[in-house]
Amino acid sequence: MGKLVSVVVSVYNEEKALEQFYQETRKILDLLTWEYELLFVNDGSADGSLSILKQFAAQNEKVKVLSFSRNFGHEAAMIAGLDYSRGDCIICMDADLQHPPEYIPEILRKMEEGYQIVNMVRTRNDSAGLIKRITSAGFYKVINALSDVKFENNASDFFAVDRQAAEVLRQDYRERVRFLRGFVQNIGFKKTTIEFEARARVAGESKYNLRKLFAFSMNTIMCFSNMPLRLGIYAGICSAFLGFVVMLYTLYTWIKVGTPSGYATIVVLICFMFAVLFLIVGIIGEYIAILFTELKGRPIYIVAETKNVEQTQGERSEKVQ
Ligand code: UDP
Ligand code: MG
Repeated sequence: MGKLVSVVVSVYNEEKALEQFYQETRKILDLLTWEYELLFVNDGSADGSLSILKQFAAQNEKVKVLSFSRNFGHEAAMIAGLDYSRGDCIICMDADLQHPPEYIPEILRKMEEGYQIVNMVRTRNDSAGLIKRITSAGFYKVINALSDVKFENNASDFFAVDRQAAEVLRQDYRERVRFLRGFVQNIGFKKTTIEFEARARVAGESKYNLRKLFAFSMNTIMCFSNMPLRLGIYAGICSAFLGFVVMLYTLYTWIKVGTPSGYATIVVLICFMFAVLFLIVGIIGEYIAILFTELKGRPIYIVAETKNVEQTQGERSEKVQ
C-alpha cells in the first residue's frame, strides 16, 4: 500500500463553500500517487454544513467527518484533525478555498524529498483588507521582538506535518491557550516553506473580526513570552530612579527657599503611579487566568458524532485522556 495523506479541513458555517471545495480538492486528491483521507472537522456549525458533509461521507468512504458538540474554534478543530488523522503526512487547510488545493502535490513532493514540516506562506492576500494586513504585520513585529522563538511573517493555518512531527504536536502541545501555527514553526525538524497566493474566499464570510484577532494576539504573546511580566521590575526601577531625583530636588528647594509646596505634582504623580501599578496587576491577572485555564484541564474539544471514522482512530483524542 502506498503512503497515506490526511487532509484536515476545519468547517464552521461553510455550507456555501463546501460543495466547490470538495469538488476541487477531490479532483486533485484522486490524481495523487498517495492514498488519501479527507477529514472534515465540523466545528459546531449552525447551518447545513454537517448534513452536506454527511452526504460526502456517504458517497465516498475516504471522506471522514468529525462533528463537535459546539463551536470550539479553528485551532481546536485542527488539533482534533491531527488527533484523528492516520496519514504519513497531514495537511491542514481551510474550507473556503483560500488555501488552494493545487498546492497539495507540491507539498507531497517536499515530503518525499525528506522534509517533515511544510509551512505555506502567503505572498498576497486578496481578501484581507488594509487594516487586517497592517495589524497582522504589526503583530508579527511585536511577537518576534518579545519572544525568543522566531515566527515566519505571513505564515498561515495552511501547513503540513509528517507522522513524527504530528506525534509531537499530539503528545506535548496540548495547551488550552495556544497558537498552533507557532508550535508548528518551533518544534524544529526538517522544514521548508512554499509560497502561495491566498485566493479570495469562495463564499460565506470570514469568521474572524478584529476583536477576536486582538484577543487571539494577546493570548499568543502571553503564550510565547514572559516579557510582559517583567514590566513590573522595569517600572519599579524607573519609579525608584524618579523618586530619587525628586527627593534631591525637594531637599534642594527646602534648603534654598523653605518647605516646598507641590499639590499638583503630588496628584499627577499619584495618578500616574497608580495607572502603572494597575496595568501591571492586570497583566499578572491575565497570566493567572491562563494558569487557571490550564489547571482546570477542560477538554480542547468534544466530539459529538463521527462518520467513516474507525474506532482505533483518535486514540489520543480528548475523551480518552
Ligand atoms: N473556522 C472554524 N471554527 C471557527 C472559525 C473558523 O473551524 O470558530 C474555520 C472556517 O470554517 C475556515 C477556517 O476556519 O475553514 C478559517 O476561517 P476564516 O476563513 O473565517 O478565517 P480567515 O481566512 O478570514 O482568516
Ligand atoms: Mg478564510
